Amino acid sequence: MNIAVVGTGYVGLVTGTCFAEMGNHVICVDIDKAKVESMKNGKVPIYEPHLDGIFERNLRQGRLNFTTDLASAIKDSKIIFLALPTPPGEDGSADLSYVLGVAEQLGKIMTDYKVIVNKSTVPVGTAEKVHNAILVNCKTEFDVVSNPEFLREGFAVDDFMKPDRVVIGTDSEKARKIMSDLYAPFVRQGNPIYFMDARSSELTKYAANAFLATKITFMNEIANLCEKVGANVDMIRIGIGSDTRIGKRFLFAGIGYGGSCFPKDVQALARTAQDYDYDFKVLTSVMDVNDRQRISIVEKIKSYFDNNLSGKKIALWGLAFKPDTDDIREAPALYIIDLLLKEGVEISAYDPEAANNVKKIFGDKIKYASDPYEAVENADALLVATEWSVFRTPEFETLSRKMKAKVIFDGRNLYDPAKMKELGFYYNSVGRTVVSTN
Ligand code: NAD
Repeated sequence: MNIAVVGTGYVGLVTGTCFAEMGNHVICVDIDKAKVESMKNGKVPIYEPHLDGIFERNLRQGRLNFTTDLASAIKDSKIIFLALPTPPGEDGSADLSYVLGVAEQLGKIMTDYKVIVNKSTVPVGTAEKVHNAILVNCKTEFDVVSNPEFLREGFAVDDFMKPDRVVIGTDSEKARKIMSDLYAPFVRQGNPIYFMDARSSELTKYAANAFLATKITFMNEIANLCEKVGANVDMIRIGIGSDTRIGKRFLFAGIGYGGSCFPKDVQALARTAQDYDYDFKVLTSVMDVNDRQRISIVEKIKSYFDNNLSGKKIALWGLAFKPDTDDIREAPALYIIDLLLKEGVEISAYDPEAANNVKKIFGDKIKYASDPYEAVENADALLVATEWSVFRTPEFETLSRKMKAKVIFDGRNLYDPAKMKELGFYYNSVGRTVVSTN
């Protein structure tokens, strides 16, 4: 099949590359000329495990192409995916201007039947809006389909190639058949394709993200309670996770959720509820708790240093919102850096992939180390903000030698408190007893 993918970011590029890998001819469109040029030259613009190899192969074999020209990209494409940004608007609702802008352009240039597939995360009713935006200028038959994307950054290729499920919202039999054929190679092991109406499909995506954000937030609240009552959140996690109704995943306490999806999607769903006069109380609490959780570790650090952080040097391990990505959108580390700088802290940060993106925001206000141990040199404390594998078993001896003081604030519960005590560290994590040598 000939496919166009409009918007070549984390979702669009993975979508396009994976469809090409299944033998389709894919043209990816983006308005960012520099990005398109570098992709044409074989450079993957994001860090995503396992993407480089299939990108290179499909580019070389001519199944994956890039352009800034929407009209030429869609000319021979039967299916047009929209993988465009839907950032939060000022009132928290999803900003649909990118999606509807492209829809309007499509209406002017489509000359034969196309299926326009919305992969962006969009509020209930967007398929109708896209349909109407195309219809204004359109002289040909077309269908608009909702097909929300559930991939996780860091596992994007695997998630796309072997999805737990594919959700497709359409009332058109013709579009349903085309989408079934397109996704058939991805569900050979029997994972389901769920067909439904577009409104349910659109809401499914928000419900999934809001539920996961709520699960994380619930565990963070339990962790905060553990700190008060002297219980260990890891024990609670194991204790409840073995109940199959609850499940083991997404139960780790930490310094809050971030990323380009959960924060904006929870906010947008709350806004949708408000638009329909429904008071979705759980979501409001989830947002409040997460805002607090994200910066709770800074409060712990302040309290440890008697509320005077001026001139202290803190090593920060992890900048990305989660491991295995260079994405820093809404990363807790950004909020932490902001607060620590205001307190007069000198920050030396290390992240395996995300430092260049953070540089674009903070410039030389913080230092960027080239390895984890350079970051901790002379530090008064180490703060772990992202659970990259490389931080899981550090050389504690080297830390002891290089740091000014053996003090660790761990926002991701990577280390065993008993072991840290044995090694003579002050160790403060989330929802577990603080250990110190005193
Ligand atoms: P992104 O910001 O990484 O990529 C968007 C791309 O669209 C950019 O390259 C941008 O230059 C391009 N673009 C903007 N306007 C354009 C236009 N008029 N024509 C062509 N290209 C244009 O965004 P993303 O993370 O890929 O997210 C895209 C959508 O998918 C969002 O709605 C998001 O909520 C959703 N989503 C994201 C993820 C994720 O993990 N990132 C997962 C599931 C769903």
